[in-house]
Amino acid sequence: MDIEPDADIEKFRAEVTEFLDTAPTPEIREAGRKTTSAFAPFEQAMAWQKILHARGWAAPSWPAEYGGPGWSIEQQYVFASEYQKRGLPPLLPNSLRMVGPLLMDIGTPEQKATYLPRILAGEDYWTQGYSEPGAGSDLASLSCSAVADGDDYVINGSKIWTTLAHKANRMFMLVRTSREGKKQQGITFLLLDRVDYPGMQIRPIVGLDGEPEQCEVFFDDVRVPQSGRVGAENDGWSVAKHLLKHERGGSAHSPALHERIRMIRRAAGDTPSPFGGTLADDPVFQRDLGELEADVASHEHFEKLAISGHPVSQDPAYPSINKLISSELTQRISVLMTRVVGLDGLPDQHDALHVGSDTAPLGGDLALIAMPFYLNSRATTIYAGTNEVQRDLVARTLRA
Ligand SMILES: Cc1cc2nc3c(=O)[nH]c(=O)nc-3n(C[C@H](O)[C@H](O)[C@H](O)COP(=O)(O)OP(=O)(O)OC[C@H]3O[C@@H](n4cnc5c(N)ncnc54)[C@H](O)[C@@H]3O)c2cc1C
Repeated sequence: MDIEPDADIEKFRAEVTEFLDTAPTPEIREAGRKTTSAFAPFEQAMAWQKILHARGWAAPSWPAEYGGPGWSIEQQYVFASEYQKRGLPPLLPNSLRMVGPLLMDIGTPEQKATYLPRILAGEDYWTQGYSEPGAGSDLASLSCSAVADGDDYVINGSKIWTTLAHKANRMFMLVRTSREGKKQQGITFLLLDRVDYPGMQIRPIVGLDGEPEQCEVFFDDVRVPQSGRVGAENDGWSVAKHLLKHERGGSAHSPALHERIRMIRRAAGDTPSPFGGTLADDPVFQRDLGELEADVASHEHFEKLAISGHPVSQDPAYPSINKLISSELTQRISVLMTRVVGLDGLPDQHDALHVGSDTAPLGGDLALIAMPFYLNSRATTIYAGTNEVQRDLVARTLRA
């Protein structure tokens, strides 16, 4: 594989950098600086998606027939790298990277025509309703039920950890439609056109970092049209497995990891060391940062191989391996961040962290985000399937 820059790529890079340097509003840049999670501040991320969409660049990996820019793999990687170098907020993943690609693969013509343009334009945001209080790793045990009644399903039960349900206008979800046979065989995948159907209640959960990012969702005789079903009734497990490939493996994480390391390096150069000079001169710190940087570079190579069509991307273990490595690197980076900011990371700067806040932050940019980022990133090894379960999946794949 060769994805070294050539003349055309450099011309493309110049076009991208010119746009990324001028198009984002100050609020969008601020949202990028204040992103402490995989999910950037909602309003600014959606506003930024609309700007990118107007340029035709909201979904770099989407095929041209669905409104993507039709970029090569090299162009997509250049775009991701330049994007991250500027610390811009990531676009929210559920619609563009999960339900959108799923519908391209297996949606009906009507579902594609209705939803894909709205997803691309940032007019809709989809929340993911899979997990339940009794069904996380063992997702097939889910019990939120849907009973067919005329042209509708009537849903009863609840979901939990439903990220950004309080901001979304649509939901994709798994429901139990049969209790016969194996538990995987009685599950159906549904698209909900609204999250405010009568009988639906959304209750935000405040996370460790003080932010209400996840939610509980309750369904009490909620009537939804059967036309929202993807795939056949009771075949939702195979639809969900298909979508999980996009959730775990569908993007390159290394450009964002590199940007976090650059932030750490910059801050370390401004931080006095108790042994003289700055923290960046400290040999122990240099060793730890160097190790981390080497591991990120190695992961970058792995991701580049995969996105350039190397057979590794077809390996059934690839999504799990990518998820494992990138989530653990994220956590290591978050630990190093807290080491750099030291005591400056301890004050609760919740107010200053909100976009548009007039509360002046204490310390530099890194001090503002280090602790919330550290706390939020505890969840990276839990969501999208816990790392213990991913290791189990990898082991089983290798044994097969
Ligand atoms: C920040 C965050 C965002 C999330 N967003 C969403 C979302 O948008 N939509 C959604 O539907 N869900 C979401 N989730 C839920 C997430 O998918 C589940 O939390 C996850 O699958 C784990 O399920 P659980 O919490 O029920 O833990 P459990 O399944 O109860 O696991 C508890 C512990 O047991 C271990 N364990 C369980 N089974 C095994 C096994 N077979 N082998 C080894 N170890 C095992 C786990 O690794 C874990 O350490 C989110 C979770 C978090 C934390």
